[in-house]
Amino acid sequence: MRKRENLTVETEAHVRRILIENGRAIGVEHSKGTARAAREVIVAAGAYGSPQLLMLSGIGPAEHLGAHGIEVLVENPNVGQHLQEHPMAFLNWRVSGDTLDDAAEPKYLLPWLLRGRGKLSSNIAEGVVHWRSDPSLPAPDFQIVQAPVYFWEHGFRKTGAPALTIGASYVGPESRGAVTLRSADPGDHPRILNNALTSPGEMEAMLRALEMVREIASQRPLRDLLGEELNPSASIRTRKQLTDWLRATCEHEYHPSCTCRIGSPGQGVVDAELRVHGVEGLRVADASAQPRIVSANTQAVTVMIAERCSDLVLARAGAAACNTRRLAEASRVSHRQSSTWLSIRVQVAPATQIFPSEPTGNLDAPFAPQRRALPSDGRAPSRGRFGSAIPPGRH
Ligand SMILES: Cc1cc2nc3c(=O)[nH]c(=O)nc-3n(C[C@H](O)[C@H](O)[C@H](O)COP(=O)(O)OP(=O)(O)OC[C@H]3O[C@@H](n4cnc5c(N)ncnc54)[C@H](O)[C@@H]3O)c2cc1C
Repeated sequence: MRKRENLTVETEAHVRRILIENGRAIGVEHSKGTARAAREVIVAAGAYGSPQLLMLSGIGPAEHLGAHGIEVLVENPNVGQHLQEHPMAFLNWRVSGDTLDDAAEPKYLLPWLLRGRGKLSSNIAEGVVHWRSDPSLPAPDFQIVQAPVYFWEHGFRKTGAPALTIGASYVGPESRGAVTLRSADPGDHPRILNNALTSPGEMEAMLRALEMVREIASQRPLRDLLGEELNPSASIRTRKQLTDWLRATCEHEYHPSCTCRIGSPGQGVVDAELRVHGVEGLRVADASAQPRIVSANTQAVTVMIAERCSDLVLARAGAAACNTRRLAEASRVSHRQSSTWLSIRVQVAPATQIFPSEPTGNLDAPFAPQRRALPSDGRAPSRGRFGSAIPPGRH
């Protein structure tokens, strides 16, 4: 790939701003110089970097840009807004058995290099439950992940002793945060505010998930392996204590999304073809373009957005004929890498179903109205407690 004559890869180059002339993106200015675009500029700096770059280039909320002395080229209050994440709470126990806590010891390297075996062959989180915290929900809103290792404070805190972690990731969040500028200096990190668990009902859902995790841990045979509960700890039991604990310690699943979301000019940053509203020749293709965060890990959807973007660019360049084959091939690769519903949908669904020609509807409508009516006896409407059938339309 790198040998292609029409490809230049510039590493260690920090993009400072997009160059815009007469309403058209013509290139980028970066720490090593400039790069000119023959046709289009595609921004893929992630859900924090992409809105920062647009704002530094004069595309964003006018008042906010003005406060940092940036000339407004395209006013769009949605740039950097609607940030969504998956809040995640971790519970840990001491365990008596063997765990992955010592997996970094050199003795585990050789079995991995020679035979692909041993502790380094683990993906760490090998057991996952998809669970509805409310049986009336049409799809699971929690991903409960189990890992035989101590994981706390993003893995930076160690105890030196074997432990087990169960993490409850809230994959149906409603709360929205924002990415804003600290300054007009491209070298500054943007300001990130997640506002996690601030929408009504979210804390309740999280508390139900903690209860479920503790229930799982109380069942045999797992119960027999577990010792002291390290986090939250046996002394934290009441709703008030757990709420305070969550507010103080809740982490997230590294899934920032939606800060340059697909939507109409009033609601979004890019259109259904990932083109930035108000600027010619400029697209955003990364996790920030999701209209609403998926109820799953975000790598697969980002790959899908990227594949779709390349397809759109090629189509515009007059190469439509080869697109169907490329899309099919891309979805096969993506399906091999990750067997999520996303790649399957790329394979079977017409592209217009995934990227409608014009996004409609209220992107901020709460999830609650989509709930299905419960049977009168209160039982779950589908596959029981741990059922994970995902009906079309939720994601
Ligand atoms: C620790 C961790 C674990 C994860 N695990 C999983 C997982 O198991 N499964 C899963 O599905 N997802 C996982 N994710 C999420 C997944 O990695 C992201 O959803 C995905 O990478 C998003 O892709 P992106 O292109 O939007 O952004 P990124 O992958 O963040 O890519 C953006 C790139 O742009 C660069 N950049 C930003 N600004 C500039 C600038 N001004 N100039 C030049 N370059 C710039 C950044 O350095 C970065 O390299 C994980 C994320 C993290 C952080």
